[in-house]
Amino acid sequence: MTEHPNTQQPDGVPDPRLEQLRERLQAVRERIGSAAAAAGRAESPPQLIVVTKFHPAEDVRRLAALGVTDVGENRDQEASEKAAALAALELRWHFIGQLQSNKAKSVVKYAHAVHSVDRLQLAAALAKAMAVEQDRTGRAPLDCFIQVSLDGDSGGHRGGALPADVPALAAQLAGSAGIRLAGVMAVAPLGADPVPAFEKLAELSARLTAVHPGAAGISAGMSQDLEQAVRLGATHLRVGSDILGPRPALR
Ligand SMILES: *Cc1c(COP(=O)(O)O)cnc(C)c1O
Repeated sequence: MTEHPNTQQPDGVPDPRLEQLRERLQAVRERIGSAAAAAGRAESPPQLIVVTKFHPAEDVRRLAALGVTDVGENRDQEASEKAAALAALELRWHFIGQLQSNKAKSVVKYAHAVHSVDRLQLAAALAKAMAVEQDRTGRAPLDCFIQVSLDGDSGGHRGGALPADVPALAAQLAGSAGIRLAGVMAVAPLGADPVPAFEKLAELSARLTAVHPGAAGISAGMSQDLEQAVRLGATHLRVGSDILGPRPALR
């Protein structure tokens, strides 16, 4: 693979962080490949989104040099700064964190997808912001995943809509110009077996695609549970710490 020309190191100067990221990325890609093969999905493996939150833009640049095309962020200010600094790389930025409606205008300026749409008010704010943004730039529609809560307490710390609220949210997103309803997203409950949660998500996905056949995306699976997610049909994996290492302390 050829290196992207834009790494900061002058030619010939070793970059230990690049080598570390290369090894960890390769290990995660191998895990995904094995899980996909075991699930009979070798021909349609999931999309890897590397979650770069709390890590510097320079690491995102290194990942791009290693062939990463999709990155995930969970805070608007950090994401918008990194996306601006790395605009030349043509990465796809995925917003995966809880999002306040008043940040929609900012997020649609850089995000290819939002994985955390969990309420009608946010869906409306994103649609409104996309109408303005598409007028201004002609950008492609925003992919929106409906985040569902799989531990039964909507508003719990992991976020997400109640499963019963998915149809109304889906109808609103599907009816919004500038938005493409992409599918469902979830974070497995902390400290519990992820399998029942991912099974429930697969069920919700089947119900959603019965009405919206194009919305077949399933965003699930992180460092700890990507194998289970692949087995249960995840189309998008959001992997952070197993590639980038522990997140630096909050600034
Ligand atoms: C941080 C984060 C991830 C990545 O988690 P890791 O355990 O570091 O792989 C995935 N999804 C969401 C929503 C996150 O906030």
